[in-house]
Amino acid sequence: MDNNYDLVIKKLFPEPLASPEDLEIKYPPRKLAPEAMVTRVAPSPTGFVHFGGLYASLISERFAHQSGGIFILRIEDTDKKREVAGTAELFAKSLNQYGIFNDEGLNKDNKEIGDYGPYKQSERAQIYHSYVKDLLLKGRAYPCFASTEELEELRNRQEVMGERSGYYGHFAVWRNKSVDEVLEALDKGLKPVIRLKSPGNFNNKVIVNDLLVGRREMPENDQDIVIMKADGLPTYHFAHAVDDHLMRTSHVVRGNEWFPSLPLHLQLFATLGWEAPVYAHLAPIQKMEGVNKRKLSKRKDEEANLAYYKKAGYPEEAVIEYLLNLANSNFEDWRRENAEIHNSEFKLSLKKLAKSNGPLFDLIKLTDISKDIIARLSAEEVYISSLKWAQEFDTSLAKRLQTDESYAKKIFNIEREGAVKPRKDISRWSEISAEISYFYDDNFILDASLKKELMNEISPETAKLLIQDFLSVYNTQDNQEEWFNKLKDTAAKHGYAASNKEYQADTSKYKGQVGTVAKLLRFLLTGRLQTPNLCAIMQAMGEERIMKRLNNL
Ligand code: GLU
Repeated sequence: MDNNYDLVIKKLFPEPLASPEDLEIKYPPRKLAPEAMVTRVAPSPTGFVHFGGLYASLISERFAHQSGGIFILRIEDTDKKREVAGTAELFAKSLNQYGIFNDEGLNKDNKEIGDYGPYKQSERAQIYHSYVKDLLLKGRAYPCFASTEELEELRNRQEVMGERSGYYGHFAVWRNKSVDEVLEALDKGLKPVIRLKSPGNFNNKVIVNDLLVGRREMPENDQDIVIMKADGLPTYHFAHAVDDHLMRTSHVVRGNEWFPSLPLHLQLFATLGWEAPVYAHLAPIQKMEGVNKRKLSKRKDEEANLAYYKKAGYPEEAVIEYLLNLANSNFEDWRRENAEIHNSEFKLSLKKLAKSNGPLFDLIKLTDISKDIIARLSAEEVYISSLKWAQEFDTSLAKRLQTDESYAKKIFNIEREGAVKPRKDISRWSEISAEISYFYDDNFILDASLKKELMNEISPETAKLLIQDFLSVYNTQDNQEEWFNKLKDTAAKHGYAASNKEYQADTSKYKGQVGTVAKLLRFLLTGRLQTPNLCAIMQAMGEERIMKRLNNL
């Protein structure tokens, strides 16, 4: 090779670099069973965690762990202009909070774990340089000094000529520049990008096999893509090949927006002399807009941001079970048949993932799943989770819950532990405040017009007597049956039928029926016409509060 070319390489990479052989030794093939999958999620830290990112992470993690493999979190932070500080940490923490555990990469305590790191691309510059240098030495890459203006001019020219745009074939002028021309540019202090010298021909076809998309014929890549930018960092495409090779990723599960790049990625692996991983491109989660479906969009939909679920207070488990449901629709049946088992026991199937039409996002479904999950929790668990949520999003609720912990737990236990049908009225922690407000005296209000309406059904005098008589027999220890019998007896004493049936049989005999008396009691105690079980509410409220409220009449 031309000595001057050595000089070019020395100028580009003055620092000593590990050789590709050294790197093979440093990052050896993993010692795993043949069926074990090594998967990764590779977010770019651009400000927030996308709901679809959690979906892809969950699927990748489950495949890895179900097969006895490894799940990696890699941070793709080579685009410094788009980077938002703190996102990598947010991603690591979110995965952990949602029970998606990565074996390697940044963990919840902001520490990197694993032997195949660093796991942040910006810290891997030296590794990429080794391969860029190697490709330069082999004549499979070249420095390109085309300016932004020149590239723009090329694009315009191609458009006018009706040609495909890009840097390829005879348009790739720096591909054939002499070593002297390169040295001259370098001596001027210009910083080149490094381009792949693509061996592809656009008229040739390459067959790609994707586990989800299937077998497809696509044109070969002939673009001399940039593999290293002028700032010395790699482009996504190049870093993907290097990282997934060195991290020994066996399966790349990622959004299908990357599917069109597959011919390029396969070409990069081949050029670098490596076996490519197996690919599974996920169809994106979709949303209805009018009568049309479209991709859940980070610009248009607040539900695309994981922070939305956190703020609304959906339990993490509900979000995960909802995603499992989107991934494999048989999850729902499995959950019904295995009510007590943790969702990590569910065997996620690749075959059952959507092939081309992504699953449809449905907030109502998430709400239903969430209600079921909250219904399965103990009062203690509801207390802990809602308090944790409130400490971040509703400090007055947090204060309320902490001021009288035992009262809060009694409230949460209404129709819960031991109930034949636990209550299913709460779907997220942000509903708690309104749900329990009437239990607290400072929040308790009797709507005057409702009260007036009620007094049209029962005169104030009768109401007073009914309440007095009921209180004289009621005991907070009464169980549901005792409570109801006492209510019926009191109602009967004042001319109210013990059931609606009885009342309907001869309405002339009664002033009304026991339901009306219960309605009165409920309203006076809670200010509402609909509540969970009233007997249980009274038990939670305790005698003093009951007396105070009923004496309000
Ligand atoms: N950094 C890429 C993204 O955020 C990852 C693509 C991949 O998984 O290969 O979309």
